[in-house]
Amino acid sequence: MPNATNLIKRRGLMLVLSSPSGAGKSTIARLLLNDKEKLELALSISVTTRPRRPSEIDGVHYHFITIREFERLRDSDELIEWAEVHGNFYGTPRQAAENALADGQDMLFDIDWQGALQLQEKMKGDVVSIFILPPSMAALKQRLHRRAEDTEEVIETRLRNARNEIERWRSYDYVLVNDDLDRAYHQVQSIVTAERLRRDRSPGLFDFVNTLLDEQLD
Ligand code: ADP
Ligand code: 5GP
Repeated sequence: MPNATNLIKRRGLMLVLSSPSGAGKSTIARLLLNDKEKLELALSISVTTRPRRPSEIDGVHYHFITIREFERLRDSDELIEWAEVHGNFYGTPRQAAENALADGQDMLFDIDWQGALQLQEKMKGDVVSIFILPPSMAALKQRLHRRAEDTEEVIETRLRNARNEIERWRSYDYVLVNDDLDRAYHQVQSIVTAERLRRDRSPGLFDFVNTLLDEQLD
């Protein structure tokens, strides 16, 4: 339903979620994406050379590609950012993200700290970054096992890398602890709501305020 506030033209924002593997960022991302009526976020679907997990669908969770195809995309500048994470390559397709932002569509990026840094450098004014911490390392380990999607070896690598990832928390705009899922999810919702209202994100405000001031009262 159009109303005065959603007629004010706004550029889309890039909501970057990062966390050590298992802290719950995909779960929170899923909740945000399903909350279509309220938040209307689109997901940036990354390319990856990682093997598909049983629960994943090609083109929905990731575009699963070969290393050769990845190198082609990276070398032809079709990725806004890319990184090697836990021994596999991941990258964000440029075109989909740029189209969304220009259309005023907010987009969610589930990417690691290396990707977050690249986006913060290249798209500074567009990025809102959130880092999700687990309540404890023991909970992180438990969640990785409970997810039951990775081999023991993969879980060990991810746990080993978790400390290095957690140390990157300072480069994010917001940091939250995913202890209670519902609370963490509502915290992210609040961040999105507030960030959408930032003055510098709404060039359409100039016209709106001018129209307001020109309005003749009877
Ligand atoms: P990530 O995307 O960060 O690797 P996931 O979202 O896949 O992590 O979550 C890892 C596991 O932890 C999943 O099984 C998920 O259901 C569970 N999980 C997520 N958030 C919580 C929470 N607040 N409390 C308990 N378990 C959680
Ligand atoms: P997973 O293999 O669990 O899906 O993801 C492993 C890590 O790669 C996570 O930290 C996830 O956020 C990150 N990741 C997923 N897609 C991208 C991407 O396009 N770029 C970067 N830099 N990291 C990504």
